[in-house]
Amino acid sequence: MRLLLMGPPGAGKGTQAAVIAERFAVPAISTGDIFRANVTQQTALGVAAQTYMDAGEYVPDEITNAMVAARLAERDCAGGFLLDGYPRTPQQVVELDSLLELTGVGLDAVVLLDADPDELVSRLLARSEEQGRADDTESVIRRRLEVYAAETGPLADSYAERDLLSRVDGLGTVDEVTERILAALTSMSSQRTATSAP
Ligand code: ADP
Repeated sequence: MRLLLMGPPGAGKGTQAAVIAERFAVPAISTGDIFRANVTQQTALGVAAQTYMDAGEYVPDEITNAMVAARLAERDCAGGFLLDGYPRTPQQVVELDSLLELTGVGLDAVVLLDADPDELVSRLLARSEEQGRADDTESVIRRRLEVYAAETGPLADSYAERDLLSRVDGLGTVDEVTERILAALTSMSSQRTATSAP
């Protein structure tokens, strides 16, 4: 299973990525988590990424693409993976396509988890109280939502054109949203079986 989980900040990607990846026994790869771990350890990658993250801007494609290429080359990704928060730019889409082409495999599905913008802001503000993430202040949250809308939102169309996209409502309990995602994946795979049948 090779899956992408897309969606605006606060839609619940990280939570759902963990559950869905476990269900399919594939690694959940969150570019945000990898960057944060590197910032905490103050590695060269973390130092390079930190200023962008603190401002709510995307880390440059060259840095992000190299990191993802290295991660997908690890053995645990051979049987599949769930990417959470990648790709987010057109250049990242191109990079992922060429990485997959090199290994001769394709994506199975792209899930776009979405929610109303006001809901997103209130969830992120609530999270900032619990987790104290550096980029969960109101002004940085607004910037992250803007960057998402400008740069990442439009990428969904290119996956929709490839018949890979499923839009899922991120509003509700964790279990309800998980069930919606699983149902969306099942219906996509049965549609595909139906259309590829002789
Ligand atoms: P969110 O989606 O809530 O903003 P993430 O944890 O997914 O949170 O990402 C946090 C930050 O990490 C982003 O604001 C950005 O600076 C950086 N980042 C994560 N993934 C990418 C990516 N694919 N491309 C560029 N920057 C990224």
